[in-house]
Amino acid sequence: MTVAIYPGSFDPITNGHIDILKSGAEIFDKVIIAVSYNANKQGFLPVEIRADLIKKCVRDIRNVEVDCFEGLTVEYAKKRGAEVLLRGLRTSFDFEYEMQLSQTNHALYNNIKTVFLITKPEFNFISSSCVREILINKGDIKGFVPEAVADYLISNYACL
Ligand code: ADP
Repeated sequence: MTVAIYPGSFDPITNGHIDILKSGAEIFDKVIIAVSYNANKQGFLPVEIRADLIKKCVRDIRNVEVDCFEGLTVEYAKKRGAEVLLRGLRTSFDFEYEMQLSQTNHALYNNIKTVFLITKPEFNFISSSCVREILINKGDIKGFVPEAVADYLISNYACL
């Protein structure tokens, strides 16, 4: 049984993340989408809200679990018995950063392999930071995030 961890900030989860997650769930026996957080560094959304929103979006995917973790991703992977880290790639800019991250994780824990998936072209330009920027400037985020996420963000944050 191959368990993959899909780690990230997911602040908030976007259609691009969901695309990678669905593909990962077709490849691996189980995918744990794990929201990473740092208790000393607050993100845009509280970590519990990020995880709750993800849960709403993945209800129908039977082999996906949602969790949160603090600290090193490889330590979390060891704890969960995972051998694979799943990451998404959009641009060559992502590639430079992701290659370094992947090699660092492998240096820390040589049982771990990072698998990269490329998103569908229609989701390639989407990032959580753009969604936040659009939201606080009262733009339309509906095409960028799943419906449940858009509904939550618009009713709770669009007035910022
Ligand atoms: P991090 O804070 O670790 O960069 P993110 O939540 O921003 O986490 O992203 C998690 C993973 O999803 C990363 O591998 C990132 O490259 C990937 N990702 C983000 N947005 C997209 C997208 N639109 N299409 C494909 N992959 C994406």
